[in-house]
Amino acid sequence: MTAIPQERRLVTAIPGPKSQELQARRTSVVAGGVGSVLPVFTARAGGGIIEDVDGNRMIDFGSGIAVTSVGASAEAVVRRASAQLADFTHTCFMVTPYEGYVEVAEALAELTPGDHAKKSALFNSGAEAVENAVKIARAYTKRQAVVVFDHGYHGRTNLTMALTSKNMPYKNGFGPFAPEVYRVPVAYGYRWPTGAENCGAEASAQAIDQINKQIGADNVAAIIIEPVLGEGGFIEPAKGFLPAIAQFAKDNGIVFVADEIQSGFCRTGQWFACEDEGIVPDLITTAKGIAGGLPLAAVTGRAEIMDAAHAGGLGGTYGGNPVACAGALGSIETMKELDLNGKAKRIEEVMKGRLTAMQEKFPIIGDIRGRGAMIAIELVKADSPEGAATKEPNPEAAGALAKACHAEGVLVLTCGTYGNVLRFLPPLVIGEDLLNEGLDVIEQSFAQI
Ligand SMILES: *Cc1c(COP(=O)(O)O)cnc(C)c1O
Repeated sequence: MTAIPQERRLVTAIPGPKSQELQARRTSVVAGGVGSVLPVFTARAGGGIIEDVDGNRMIDFGSGIAVTSVGASAEAVVRRASAQLADFTHTCFMVTPYEGYVEVAEALAELTPGDHAKKSALFNSGAEAVENAVKIARAYTKRQAVVVFDHGYHGRTNLTMALTSKNMPYKNGFGPFAPEVYRVPVAYGYRWPTGAENCGAEASAQAIDQINKQIGADNVAAIIIEPVLGEGGFIEPAKGFLPAIAQFAKDNGIVFVADEIQSGFCRTGQWFACEDEGIVPDLITTAKGIAGGLPLAAVTGRAEIMDAAHAGGLGGTYGGNPVACAGALGSIETMKELDLNGKAKRIEEVMKGRLTAMQEKFPIIGDIRGRGAMIAIELVKADSPEGAATKEPNPEAAGALAKACHAEGVLVLTCGTYGNVLRFLPPLVIGEDLLNEGLDVIEQSFAQI
């Protein structure tokens, strides 16, 4: 396998003729409900580059939605997964176990916050991990209610749709949803009515009051939160919010679940984003960045909670597939070897520096936020063509910017409850030249729209 040259190269319009041909075939056989951000068909990918079937090389600021943090063809992932593939593809861990699964659980026990005894169960997708965290918390507490937050995203299965905040596109028409799910406010500093400084204390007080008054703390099995909210718009809960909620959970025998599916595994410059305020969750859900692109997810947590479910109550045919486990071990090896936490922090420094300079020129950048290589800009409307920024969401600008970047060979994603957030999730192994070139294109796209 030859490494892909780490340079942007456009040889056709985006999408090119071969991609368009494939897109036509796709449209007649792939369900319309499955969308694609950019209908450019991938030939190979690695480092910070995605090469399409027409030979275009795009700068990757998406990582397949925060998955390929080590790149899409990391040497250690390919080596370990290939070796495992040749040995055996599957036995089902629930039939005859294998070492890779145990090794991944050992790594999770070592890397996740807290020095208590920990156990893990492995699954195939993030949504499945979140569902199982709920099963485990209910078995442990013998309670039913689950508390989630405004702007939260937890997946697309029935229970996780109920946990997810945003209707379109995730939930619309797909109900009825699972019961005993309650949503409370989150500390969204940029949009908090009394300002960001008061947000952490006020939002946590409101959330706790709502739990006490509307549900009753004694009925709550689990509180589930993303330490940095992903699909909801890369919202970092204002300081003080997470510790207050975690303390409330602890005081009331509620299982505190950190959903680190998007924010975990070096993405924010720490192994897990909840470390930023010293939070030790009871359970932590992981997926996305864990296995270098292979499908794997986990619930990890306090041994006594993880053991609450009866034998045979957890699992799944493919959960903790041996090839995916090998991929995870290769991914974790790469993260340690290349100090990808350090790389993520450097990406933050470069991106925030450049984006802050852009904000001076383009006041529709209302907010710049995020940590590590999980950075976003929230776009708002100006009160007149040359005028000052309002806080009115500007999803049209987010869409137009994404489109302009795509045409120039830089893959960016949007997100946010109002669809007005442009998010940047480059692979942590991206070269600094490529990172800056991607930012140049973003800057030119602002000037263009
Ligand atoms: C992506 C995501 C999920 C769902 O993961 P899937 O693998 O798509 O099922 C759950 N929680 C968070 C925070 C996510 O970002």
